Amino acid sequence: MYRSHTCGQLNASFIGQEVRLSGWVQKIRNLGGMTFIDLRDRYGITQLAFNDGTDEALLLKARKLGREYVISIIGEVLERENKNPKMSTGEIEIKVTKLDILNASLTPPFTIEEESDGGEELRMKYRYLDLRREPVKKNIMLRHKVAQAARAFLNSADFLEIETPYLIKSTPEGARDFVVPSRMNEGQFYALPQSPQTFKQLLMVSGYDRYYQIVRCFRDEDLRADRQPEFTQIDCEMAFVEQADILSTFEKFVKSLLKEIKGVEVENFPVLTYAEAMEQYGNDKPDIRFEMKLNQINNLVQNNGFQVFDDAETVLAISVENCASYTRKQLDAITNWVKRPQIGMNGLIWSKYNEDGSFKSSVDKFYTEEEQALWHQQCGSKPGDLILVLAGAETKTRKAMSELRLYMAEELGLRKADEYAPLWVVDFPLLEWDEESGRFHAMHHPFTSPKLEDFALLDTDPGKVRANAYDIVLNGNEIGGGSIRIHDRAVQSRMFEVLGFSPEEAKAQFGFLMDAFEYGAPPHGGIAFGFDRLVALLGGSETIRDFIAFPKNNSGRDLMINSPSPIDSEQLKELGIALEQKVK
Ligand code: ASP
Repeated sequence: MYRSHTCGQLNASFIGQEVRLSGWVQKIRNLGGMTFIDLRDRYGITQLAFNDGTDEALLLKARKLGREYVISIIGEVLERENKNPKMSTGEIEIKVTKLDILNASLTPPFTIEEESDGGEELRMKYRYLDLRREPVKKNIMLRHKVAQAARAFLNSADFLEIETPYLIKSTPEGARDFVVPSRMNEGQFYALPQSPQTFKQLLMVSGYDRYYQIVRCFRDEDLRADRQPEFTQIDCEMAFVEQADILSTFEKFVKSLLKEIKGVEVENFPVLTYAEAMEQYGNDKPDIRFEMKLNQINNLVQNNGFQVFDDAETVLAISVENCASYTRKQLDAITNWVKRPQIGMNGLIWSKYNEDGSFKSSVDKFYTEEEQALWHQQCGSKPGDLILVLAGAETKTRKAMSELRLYMAEELGLRKADEYAPLWVVDFPLLEWDEESGRFHAMHHPFTSPKLEDFALLDTDPGKVRANAYDIVLNGNEIGGGSIRIHDRAVQSRMFEVLGFSPEEAKAQFGFLMDAFEYGAPPHGGIAFGFDRLVALLGGSETIRDFIAFPKNNSGRDLMINSPSPIDSEQLKELGIALEQKVK
């Protein structure tokens, strides 16, 4: 027996008891006659004390210990002289009578503390040590808790947890597949799933009318910051449902998580159409913790001789609360920010609605105070507010304004980590035009049903067709998305046709699904949540890496096991891959 208690368990009620604890040496302090050791395990830290009266040999052994040694001790729980109310074990310490060293440790390459002195790379390389740190441990435990809460909700709502295969054939969801060569079928490959999409739909055909899975998905995308090539979804599907059923089920789901994990109750989620979200926020995943909506003010500013506005397709304004007092320097800083290549605007125009009711702008030469008053009126400003205006081509300007809105909110502390503002965005376009390939792509995926009332538009104006698709957005992040599916062979064939598949291609890739639709496929739909991002947000962070036990870095590498890596020529030969692997 290594332990009678954990290092986070003991308090004053245990005083006088003999206990046995095991764990890692967090810290050793030799203070004259006294030696203190902080002993750490997953549950907490307990102070071990060796005093003058301690047996000489025992004391020598204790003093030899180094950081991160694994030890096991027996001792008596004593009341501590200097209590630490911040620690669960802060009332007590252990007077050690026996000490076993279970294993020594090299000096760790970085400090195992709340704030480590180790850089990102080093911590990734020694991830098993980084995982010992309290903040990382907290994240991993939160992840467990969220997974359990998700399961509990879905189980109680009659969902069945069903596994689907990892070695499949590609599902086109907009990214490249990771492929796995098949040794037994030379020259042939499996693909790792980008999601279990087709399988969960087949489960609906099979009659398992509520399915879920907390499942790994794989996408070989060009890595952007904070994307992982493998990530986890809470994947769900339901049969005999319409959009409203899915929205109501998963609204309850998200509410239950927020309640269970954060103790917060949220109101019913607003529902915005994609068109509304773009108009009001310039963004299909708006952060609605704060207002600052976009206002198109072309009607108020154009044909006035001010070239920048006159020439612009769009003139957009936001009203920033209580910022009329911004100095020239502050305004210049915002102007420089919008001129950064990532935002790419030529400049910024501002107008202040001063507390005394007067107006002052960067374009006073062109617009009177009365005219500026109208801008402020349209934006709903009050005295003390500042209007920021961007002008230019519609798509670019709207996107830039959406970024500026977030930037200002960040500056003003309006993006509070402990505030949760979920919403639904619905009625996405079904298709998006891809310049490169010169054809339409499915915006969500090819199994998404068009809105019935838009179906005829598929023939005449496919770009206008809306999808029966929805996203759930939390604090400016898409945390989940899904759709009502096509469950009719003819409609699915038509969809593949619109997407530029020949009937042969469609049959070769998705014949199994279309065949299944001919054996009594019920109406169905579903949703998948990005589990990593959801956990990160619930942990008050936007960095998903910190919430994954063994993540990959921004170049998709696992620095600890050093992967990906070349494989030897024997292995390649066996797989029938005649590739001369370049050895770096
Ligand atoms: N399979 C979709 C995705 O991964 C989600 C869904 O439509 O349910 O985004």
